[in-house]
Amino acid sequence: MAFIVKKKINGGEYYYLRESRRENGKIRAITLAYLGKTKKEAEKKTRDFLKNREKIKNEEIIKEKMVEEKKQEIKVDEKLEAEKKIKINIDELTNFCKREGFIFRSSDIYGGFSGFWDYGPLGIELFNNIKKEWWNYFVHQKENMVGIDASIISHPRTWQASGHIANFNDVAVVCKKCKQATKIDKTEVGKVKCECGGEYDVKGEFNLMFKTRVGAIDSADAYLRGETAQGMFMDFRLVQQTSRKQLPFGIAQIGKCFRNEIAPRDFLFRSREFHIGEFEFFINPEEKKCSLLEEKHLGLRIKILDAETQIEGRTELRETTVGNMLKENKLEEWHAYWLAEQVLWFNSLGLTEIKIREHMKSELSHYSSATFDLDYEYSFGSREIAGIANRGQYDLTQHTKESGEKMEIFDEKYKNKLIPKVIEPTFGIERVFLAVLTKAYNFDEKRQNVILKIPTKLAPVKAAVFPIIKGEEYEKISEEIVRDLRKEWNIAYDKSGSLGRRYARNDEIGTPMCITVDEDSLKDKSVTIRWRDNAEQVKVKIDNLREIIRSVINGEDLFKFGKRVNTRKKD
Ligand SMILES: [Zn+2]
Repeated sequence: MAFIVKKKINGGEYYYLRESRRENGKIRAITLAYLGKTKKEAEKKTRDFLKNREKIKNEEIIKEKMVEEKKQEIKVDEKLEAEKKIKINIDELTNFCKREGFIFRSSDIYGGFSGFWDYGPLGIELFNNIKKEWWNYFVHQKENMVGIDASIISHPRTWQASGHIANFNDVAVVCKKCKQATKIDKTEVGKVKCECGGEYDVKGEFNLMFKTRVGAIDSADAYLRGETAQGMFMDFRLVQQTSRKQLPFGIAQIGKCFRNEIAPRDFLFRSREFHIGEFEFFINPEEKKCSLLEEKHLGLRIKILDAETQIEGRTELRETTVGNMLKENKLEEWHAYWLAEQVLWFNSLGLTEIKIREHMKSELSHYSSATFDLDYEYSFGSREIAGIANRGQYDLTQHTKESGEKMEIFDEKYKNKLIPKVIEPTFGIERVFLAVLTKAYNFDEKRQNVILKIPTKLAPVKAAVFPIIKGEEYEKISEEIVRDLRKEWNIAYDKSGSLGRRYARNDEIGTPMCITVDEDSLKDKSVTIRWRDNAEQVKVKIDNLREIIRSVINGEDLFKFGKRVNTRKKD
């Protein structure tokens, strides 16, 4: 608070404006301004001074605010930039996969063959682990699910019945401006333009089924399957009878599919030969209630792009729960249950950024009454990684018509004979593979190398064993450990080169644990395990290794199994 003081100096009167301030716990008065020689003048100058000071203060606050906001803006920009930088782009990922032995171009020595890829030594391990996780989660852990593996080529009438010969078409187009060939949906003809803004030149409709010939004499046209679903529909009654399943139950399958894509693109994302993991879940149409819905399904938070939003030409996502989607009548209970289960499975692989896109009526497949895409944010955009369709009774009814066989079963609960309706969750396994790698890829500035942070259960190599002292006795212990661990897992053994180089190589391919054998291994039968993500180490007994590794693969923290050790000097 400012106040006026009068001072007498050499007989004259002088006015000053002073103010008390608290400094270091003491109150001190300081002079703010000289106010002149009369009281009247002093009062006027005080008013002016305080008004001016208020103005300056406000300006300073505004200025500070602007600087702060600018800082925040930069922070957000930097964050977005950083996220973009972290996300490896698709060409870099293609090169990385080739360099490390995950994925090669098919027929590389002939310049490759568009739309076909080979799994390399590490790729096949990761791929098998993803399939294993899928099978475990959706088949073994579920009460009413069994698996099959149907043939890739089936009776040609299969595809007549399913509608694939009549309807499984894309329209091939070439951009008049940039000359890029691509495919569009039949419903998009005349409505869409190329990304470059150019008009499309329509080249015609092409069926996506791969045709082949079966047999030498009286050979017949047949098709490589375009989806795994039909095998499960055709075997539906045999599976039900042999496994003695009652409705509702499901049949699951993971296998190769073939589509003669007009324009394969984005590495593994759109290829001509790929794996689908899907299941057909059969329900009595009268069974409206899903007995398996729990709070973890109903309360599951998701981001959804509604059909209505898309019809209005907008793309913003809405946050909601699976329970709310049910209340809004977007889907039925069994459909909601499996949608939630799909998202929960992705979450269990660390893929937590799944977005749901509701299909508009105009884009529903010929067999479906409601479909949702599950999208993942890849480096080339948000794209479909999985889907879930309500196929109703379409397929079983079609096969009844085509084959003349009754595809009905007897439902013990409702005491009636019926054709079940079907909910079909589908996963593009290569797309899951791509998402796992995109998410895992990390360039560590401090360690100056790539650290592939793949979840332990999916890692191609679970552990690497290194003797770090030269000598036969150390190699012998290391080899015994390797032999023992290999009974359960894929284990690497590397006895040469600098330790730093051996660590870096394993970080790069996502090996979560590196086990080092040193003098203590001889003395007290212990080894150290180094954790990939933080390069910290823990000392454990050799006898406990298998149990510890098993626990860590099941999601437990490595550092609860032993003493953290500082072995920096050994690095
Ligand atoms: Zn173009």
